[in-house]
Amino acid sequence: MAWFGRSKDRPEAEEKPAKKSGLFSMFRLGLQKTSELLRTDIRDLVTRKEGQLVDDWSDELFGILVKTDMGAGPAAEIRDYIASEFRGRRVHLDELLHAVKTKFLELLGHDDTSEPIEFAESGPTVVMVVGVNGAGKTTSIAKLAHRFTSQGKSVVLGAGDTFRAGAVRQLGIWAERLGVEFVAGQQGGDPASVAHRAATKTIECHADVCIVDTAGRLQTQRNLMQELEKIHRVISKVIPGGPHEVLLVLDATAGQNGISQASGFSEAAACTGIVLAKLDGTAKGGVIIPIRKKFGIPVKFVGVGEQPSDLAVFNVNDFVDGLFGPTVPSTENIVGEKEEEGGDDRSEPHVESV
Ligand code: GDP
Ligand code: MG
Repeated sequence: MAWFGRSKDRPEAEEKPAKKSGLFSMFRLGLQKTSELLRTDIRDLVTRKEGQLVDDWSDELFGILVKTDMGAGPAAEIRDYIASEFRGRRVHLDELLHAVKTKFLELLGHDDTSEPIEFAESGPTVVMVVGVNGAGKTTSIAKLAHRFTSQGKSVVLGAGDTFRAGAVRQLGIWAERLGVEFVAGQQGGDPASVAHRAATKTIECHADVCIVDTAGRLQTQRNLMQELEKIHRVISKVIPGGPHEVLLVLDATAGQNGISQASGFSEAAACTGIVLAKLDGTAKGGVIIPIRKKFGIPVKFVGVGEQPSDLAVFNVNDFVDGLFGPTVPSTENIVGEKEEEGGDDRSEPHVESV
C-alpha cells in the first residue's frame, strides 16, 4: 500500500531516504505495525459489514482498537463516538478512519514542543535516564548523545548501570562510536559514585551535557528506588539544579504491562519526561494514550529503531498522521454524497480521496 514505504521485502537502500525525510516519516515507519493493524482490521471490518448499520458492528471496532493497547476506556470512548456520529448509518472506510483519527487526536490532546530538553540556563545540563531492564535506556542514551552532538554540544556519558553484566561496556562502545567522553563504572560498583565522577568530568572538560545511565533492576525494587534517589542527590551536589531532565524510558512492545512495570520509577526518580522506545517493533502504539493518562509528564521522544538517528521528538499531530496516514483527510474534505456504482440510496456524506 502506498501509505507505508517500508516493507520487509524492500532493500535497505530504499528505506534510508524515507527515514531521513523528517519527523512524519519517522513516525510513519515507527508506527507501521500499529497502523497496519488498525487500517487492515478496520478495512476488513467495513468490507465485511458492508450495507450494515454501524450500530450492529461498533463492538467489533472496539475489539480492534483494544488490540493496539490503548486501553478499554479510550477504545470505548472512540466506539461510542463513532456509534453516535454515525447512528443508523452505513459507513465508508475513509470517513470512519477520519472519525477515529479525530477522536484519537482529541484523546491525546496537544502539547507539541520543538525542543523537549530543558537545558540549564548556565553551565552543563544533566540528563538522567531510568527505566526497567531492557526498556531501551542505553540505546536511547546513544540516540540522545547523537542528537546533542548534532546540535554542536559536547557530551559526557556516565555508565551508572553497574548491576547488569555488560551494561558498562555497551555504553562504552556507544561512546566510542559517537566520539563522546565516557565515565565507566565497575560492575557491582556504586552507581552514585559513577554519577559523581561523570558530573565532575563534565565540569572539568567544560562539556555541555552529561547523560547518566542507571540500572533497571537490583536485588529489590526498594533498593533500586533508593539508589535512583541517591544518584539524583549526588548529581545535584556536583551540578546545582541537576539533573535537569530525568527521562523514563518505556518499552512500547510491552504495551500496558510496561506502564505498570515502570510506574514506581516516575515518583522515585522525579521523572520529567518519557522516551517511548521500540515503537517500530510493535502494533501496540495505541499505548501512547494510557501513557499520557497515567504519567503526569510529557512524552518527549519516541525510539523508532536501533540506530543513533532513530529518535523522534514526540509530536501529537505527526504521531497521529503516522498512525492513520496522510490520506485520511481533514474535516474540510468531507463533501457531498457518495455516488456508488449501481445506485445507492445512502444519504451520509463521504470523504473525498486526496
Ligand atoms: P536497557 O536495558 O534499558 O538499557 O535497554 P537497551 O538499550 O540495552 O535495549 C534493549 C534492546 O532493545 C536492545 O537490543 C536495543 O537494540 C533494543 N532497542 C532499544 N531501543 C529500540 C528501538 O527504538 N527500536 C528497536 N527496534 N529496538 C530498540
Ligand atoms: Mg542498559
